[in-house]
Amino acid sequence: MKLIFLGPPGAGKGTLAGIVSKEFGIPQISTGDIFREAIKKESELGKKVKEIVGRGDLVPDELTVSLVRERLAQPDAAGGYILDGFPRTIPQAEALDAFQAMDAVVNFSIKDEVVIGRLSGREVCKSCGAIYHVKNMPSKVKGVCDKCGGPLYTRPDDSLESITNRLEVYKNQTEPLIKYYRKKKLLRDIDSSKSPEDTLVQIRKALGKK
Ligand code: ADP
Repeated sequence: MKLIFLGPPGAGKGTLAGIVSKEFGIPQISTGDIFREAIKKESELGKKVKEIVGRGDLVPDELTVSLVRERLAQPDAAGGYILDGFPRTIPQAEALDAFQAMDAVVNFSIKDEVVIGRLSGREVCKSCGAIYHVKNMPSKVKGVCDKCGGPLYTRPDDSLESITNRLEVYKNQTEPLIKYYRKKKLLRDIDSSKSPEDTLVQIRKALGKK
């Protein structure tokens, strides 16, 4: 299955993509994770995108598309995948269409207030990328990942200023994709304002599983 998880920041795309990826046995391909990894390593790519990502702006389409194209050519993506955080603009969607046909686009909908609450308490494991929330989904030991024991940190783009900008960027540049994919009859709407478990049930149903 070739899937896109679409939705505003904080909608739960990353958390659910992690779960669904294991359940369906297909890789989760997160452009945000690719960029963060490059920033951590201080690679050429990392240096190029560090400020953009920190502000919550979008990395240029051309660069993002060529990265995704390379990633999708890896053998593990041959049997399907979940695109988490890509495409985020109409030109990215058009570029993707030119080389891959998708099976479904899961549209995570959620209110801004809920998103702000989620992002402003989010913690991420530096080693394995697992996602926590100080109030809603705390790790068992404060600051330590339940899954791998790695240290948890707050993403620099989870500052209030950057969150506000990311929501704005989403509305202006990414939201038009809802219409784009609805027209192609690929869109599956779900409400992701409740728990990850509740969202998972909706995703399975939307994709005709179980
Ligand atoms: P979130 O969905 O929580 O905003 P992501 O981890 O998906 O976070 O993305 C983090 C940042 O990485 C974005 O704010 C943006 O700067 C960059 N990024 C991720 N995916 C894309 C993309 N498809 N196009 C352009 N920039 C992207």
